[in-house]
Amino acid sequence: MNFKELKLNKPILRAVAEKNYNAPTPVQEMAIPLVLEGKDIIVSAQTGTGKTAAYALPILQMLYNRQESSKKGNKIKALIVSPTRELAIQIQESFRDYGLYTSLVSTVVYGGTPMEPQIAELKKGVDILVATPGRLLDLHKQDIINLDYVETLVLDEADLMLDMGFIDDVKKIERLCPSGKQTLLFSATIPYKVVQLADSILKDPTKITL
Ligand code: AMP
Repeated sequence: MNFKELKLNKPILRAVAEKNYNAPTPVQEMAIPLVLEGKDIIVSAQTGTGKTAAYALPILQMLYNRQESSKKGNKIKALIVSPTRELAIQIQESFRDYGLYTSLVSTVVYGGTPMEPQIAELKKGVDILVATPGRLLDLHKQDIINLDYVETLVLDEADLMLDMGFIDDVKKIERLCPSGKQTLLFSATIPYKVVQLADSILKDPTKITL
């Protein structure tokens, strides 16, 4: 299988080609069509499997297609929640690279650094936000972040997020997003507490196990 067969469009294919990816990885082959269909998914995949592109490519494509018809919005339409600052930064770099030929804007917010530069970025308008849970909720409380327009929510490394004690924050974030959104949950392992979280927030999810 190649990326074209996954029905990805030109700007996305061009960015992928520049990354010198020859073919989709197994998680990409399985997840991309489901995400493009609007399905909720729960994916058991480790770092290194290409899981970031498995959600980033179809999210960029969906937003790009909608942007064509609805012009500029600059509202947060995709939200990716990550347990750590390092992972959040990597994810945003992926969105930036894969979205190079779309005009979609992504940014990242995380704790442990001053808020002002992040607030300045957010005020410029953002389509895709990558965030760690605490800083996201802080900025939401201050009315800097509006989650009313989120169409796709991604919980990345969900097992780690729960191990780090973010369960209540994650549930709060989920409830701040519209109920009709699509939710994608990625986790290296799927222990019982991840199953419980998935049961409480995913709608008729398809399970993908590598
Ligand atoms: P991830 O599992 O998302 O952390 O990705 C691991 C690494 O695989 C990253 O450095 C990506 O750039 C790379 N990668 C993602 N998809 C592909 C692909 N289809 N072919 C080759 N490398 C890839």
